[in-house]
Amino acid sequence: MTIVNKATENKKPVLQEDAKLAAQTAPPKIAKVLPQHINLDKWEDADYIWTGTIAPQEMTRLLGAVPEAYQDEPIGLTCELSKQGQLLTLAMTFDGEVWVTCQRCLQPLAIELSHQAQLILLQTQAQESLVDEADDYVLLEELLGEQSENSKGERLLPIKKLVEDELLLHIPLAAKHDDCAMAVEQVGIIIEEEKPSPFAALQVLKGKL
Ligand SMILES: [Zn+2]
Repeated sequence: MTIVNKATENKKPVLQEDAKLAAQTAPPKIAKVLPQHINLDKWEDADYIWTGTIAPQEMTRLLGAVPEAYQDEPIGLTCELSKQGQLLTLAMTFDGEVWVTCQRCLQPLAIELSHQAQLILLQTQAQESLVDEADDYVLLEELLGEQSENSKGERLLPIKKLVEDELLLHIPLAAKHDDCAMAVEQVGIIIEEEKPSPFAALQVLKGKL
């Protein structure tokens, strides 16, 4: 008994040191950076939660719409993959804002992002009967099949792509300040230039869901 106590005593400082070291070097329980994918074989029957921040510079499609000075502005995000009844659901909660260019004065404009979006991941076509028309949903196997990384039969949910899709859908097609002046004084005739919007394709997509 005495020996055990002594041993424990002697080891104590070392153990504390070890624990400290371990705390410093141990990987965090969740990835710091939003992962590209989550493996459904591991997570679809367990709640998956990721909380952190993302920045436009991590998202190539969104990046094009964000003025350079704002591309590393963090956006708070919580992603939760869980079963809501029978339905696998990805909830995305955004907190913060994303900056775009005002289409009237061409100055930066903040788009408020504090909202929650839900995407239902249908595991069978039959589950369509369980969702409302107002719900956003996608047929999971179709979504997975579109991702080249799943060509070997893996089931990796492209979570980052889905987050970026949601952000793009949330940003108005031609965002403008409530009250601002045209950037250019009209001299003669202005030829209106129609630029293809990076959001247009997604808006069409959303209509189909
Ligand atoms: Zn403006």
